[in-house]
Amino acid sequence: MHEFGMVAQLVDAAVATAAGRPVAAVRIRYATTLPEDVLRQGFEMLTGDGPLASAVLEAEPFDVRLACPCGFKGALEHDDVIGPGQAVCPSCGELRSFPPTPELELVEVRPSP
Ligand SMILES: [Zn+2]
Repeated sequence: MHEFGMVAQLVDAAVATAAGRPVAAVRIRYATTLPEDVLRQGFEMLTGDGPLASAVLEAEPFDVRLACPCGFKGALEHDDVIGPGQAVCPSCGELRSFPPTPELELVEVRPSP
């Protein structure tokens, strides 16, 4: 599962940033092409013990947008994206490319007070 691998990388980065301190919250940005419940499930499974065990996941969504020559301009859904920088236009059904955007970004690791 593509999403799980990304969450695992994110958790590794957060653990490295925490440097052994307990963490209260992890703030991320995620593309709405990723299902949020999968991110949350993955985060919980991967942080069962260790410094992130009691960390809250604060997830801020952002849209991945496509401008298609057919006139479609808008946010892509999970099912529209078929690979990095590649999507099927939800309007005309043609394969289009767009600048690849990191779908998951670590914004902040907030240590426990
Ligand atoms: Zn189109």
